Amino acid sequence: MKHFFSTSRPFARTVVTGALLLSLTAVTACTATGAQEGESSSARTVSANDFPVNVTESIHPAANAPTEGDLRVTLLGTGSPIPSTDRFGFSVLVQAGEKNYVIDAGRGAIIRLIQAGVEAGQVDGLFLTHFHSDHVISIDDLWMTGYVPAFGGREGTFNVYGPEGVSNIVDNVRDAFQNDIDVRVADGEVQRDTTGIQAHEFTEDGVIFDQDGLQVTMFDVQHDPANVIKPSKGFRIDYNGKSVLISGDTIPHENVVTYGKDVDLMLHEVAAFQDRNVLPQVISHHTTPDQAGEIFAEAKPKLAVYTHFVNGIPGKVEGITDEEMISRTKENYDGEVVLGEDLMSFLITDDDIEVTDQADLAELAAE
Ligand SMILES: [Zn+2]
Ligand SMILES: [Zn+2]
Repeated sequence: MKHFFSTSRPFARTVVTGALLLSLTAVTACTATGAQEGESSSARTVSANDFPVNVTESIHPAANAPTEGDLRVTLLGTGSPIPSTDRFGFSVLVQAGEKNYVIDAGRGAIIRLIQAGVEAGQVDGLFLTHFHSDHVISIDDLWMTGYVPAFGGREGTFNVYGPEGVSNIVDNVRDAFQNDIDVRVADGEVQRDTTGIQAHEFTEDGVIFDQDGLQVTMFDVQHDPANVIKPSKGFRIDYNGKSVLISGDTIPHENVVTYGKDVDLMLHEVAAFQDRNVLPQVISHHTTPDQAGEIFAEAKPKLAVYTHFVNGIPGKVEGITDEEMISRTKENYDGEVVLGEDLMSFLITDDDIEVTDQADLAELAAE
């Protein structure tokens, strides 16, 4: 039900079941032969929306803390500003020991979080790459739902980390929603000392977080050709010899290679239209699959994963198939690349990266 990318044998995969072929079709599309042709990505019927929004009923592996020393990364939302039920707004859950951290707060993050089996109140910190709406729109939801006792009842302050500008957002969010606190306190539902929200703002790149063995390093990326979208950051997360790189929203950037050199897991944004020449003003703010291939080839992550998909614009611009996404990447990269899905999860151990995708989750749910 799971496939493995051995870190000692990079990209070796253990195929266990027939159903898995379905989920692997996208990954292996460019080399697919007869046996898999009937199972194109269009045949994929599993959706993240099939899984209960209920912590106690969650079958997701993130519902249990990873074994000590391991690092789990779960894609909460793999989308962009484009409203989508398939791909919620960009957000990533990182779990180390008993701690749960969220990177960016895209649309619907809390729904996926609860589907992954983590209570809103159990988020120990939120990190922001930049302040485009698709990355910050759920700050209030994660904060406020988290202090409601019915949803995990956070004890203490909700901490938000990131570049210059975090304090401004946090201060205004706190002001905007003061009435929710006042009425819930007056109503006897929450204690006021559980409703705090605190910004941790960093003007310098480097290690911005170092607690319980987990380090978060912030670095510059570039979101647009004129470099006016500032700040724009990426993060590298290190824990017990395991590493994850999150590109943030960026055009191809040398820092992604520098900080992502030989990481276990590289989560990179991607944008693609069928006609490579349409909407240059959109494409120029992101990384195309062929460009990402160059980044992967240089950085050599153990496993490269796409997320933050800008793949066409519904009703306006045609996107590309999963197979095309892979093949454009392969123009410059001969390693494995995984197309991220909402709720897809990666367990990084000393030996492997174990991937659980939506098809695997469907099997777990059926057990
Ligand atoms: Zn974005
Ligand atoms: Zn952005």
